[in-house]
Amino acid sequence: MGHEQIMFCQDAHTGLNAIIAVHNTTLGPALGGTRLWNYSSHEDAVTDALRLSRGMTYKSAISGLNLGGGKAVIIGDATKIKSEALWRRYGKFVNNLNGKYITAEDVNTSSADMEYIHMETKFVTGVPEHLGGSGDPSPLTAYGVYVGMKAAAKKVWGNDSLTGRKVMVQGAGHVGQYLIDHLVAEGALVSVTDINNEKLKQVTDKHSSVKVADNATLFDAEMDIYAPCALGATVNSDTIAKLKCPIIAGAANNQLADETIHGDMLVKKGITYVPDFLINAGGVINISVEIEGYNRERATRIVEKIYDRTLENFVFAEQQKVNNQLAAIKMAEKRIKDIAAVKNGI
Ligand code: NAD
Repeated sequence: MGHEQIMFCQDAHTGLNAIIAVHNTTLGPALGGTRLWNYSSHEDAVTDALRLSRGMTYKSAISGLNLGGGKAVIIGDATKIKSEALWRRYGKFVNNLNGKYITAEDVNTSSADMEYIHMETKFVTGVPEHLGGSGDPSPLTAYGVYVGMKAAAKKVWGNDSLTGRKVMVQGAGHVGQYLIDHLVAEGALVSVTDINNEKLKQVTDKHSSVKVADNATLFDAEMDIYAPCALGATVNSDTIAKLKCPIIAGAANNQLADETIHGDMLVKKGITYVPDFLINAGGVINISVEIEGYNRERATRIVEKIYDRTLENFVFAEQQKVNNQLAAIKMAEKRIKDIAAVKNGI
């Protein structure tokens, strides 16, 4: 995958076993979160770090950020291994890369954990607001998904209003709930599914108009827009066969089980898909602003550009005769190549 550097970090005293993958730093330091997961093998952990860090390169590049792509994984049980010492030891490893890699929150890591890392390195974002950080990135991720969804509506229906459109949100977590707030405010007809009843209750207590849908039969339901905000790989051969909606636009990472096969299947079926790493970049945009000195207004304005970028992606995909996901990868790769040429004075 063309990674620049991979660092294996081990510390017997704290039980730290981490892999930091720096994919590409052409545009700037490699930014990406630290994921804590009980991988079944060391190889799985390495594969995840490599794949996720490359994804971050594309996400930052297409979002116009001067950041590269990186990601770290820590192997272990999140309920057992967390300690101040582990985070600080890990922070020292991050610091050893001298700013080539900047870390942040990810699955099973929190802003409280970032606070410990921050004690050993300044190369960490997503620290709590009282330390000058940007706090929870989910509201801006959700806002980016909302504007990207509106851009898809513009393409499909000729105007970007979501009023009266049936939107099925899968996953009422951090992003899903903020997204539903925007959709309800605009008068969309929202249905939601989740495996956690408590999350569903939080939504229906707040918005009496939102309907709870059955997660098991979600893909058979009538909808205008499917918004995956829970898991990856929900867009696959089985679900594409069932889906009747003209738009897929949601926050989940790696929505397509296979970028080429399923991206092409969506084109054939006439479903407009907004590439995941383009539409869900609000979180990384938010923390990129934190690096410069956090300003919420500025972060929001940059996230809003997801609207135009989504429309550009649709045009580029048609010109290049590739599906939207592959077009987004090409857009990211082109920007990296162009800026590398600028930097090298060509
Ligand atoms: P979250 O953990 O807060 O929410 C996920 C929700 O999905 C939970 O309520 C969970 O119960 C539900 N869920 C899990 N499995 C499900 C299933 N099989 N069917 C239906 N619901 C299910 O996560 P989040 O922060 O809201 O992120 C949602 C997605 O967006 C994830 O894929 C994440 O990687 C991606 N994402 C999040 C951000 C961010 O800023 N939080 C940024 C970029 C991408």
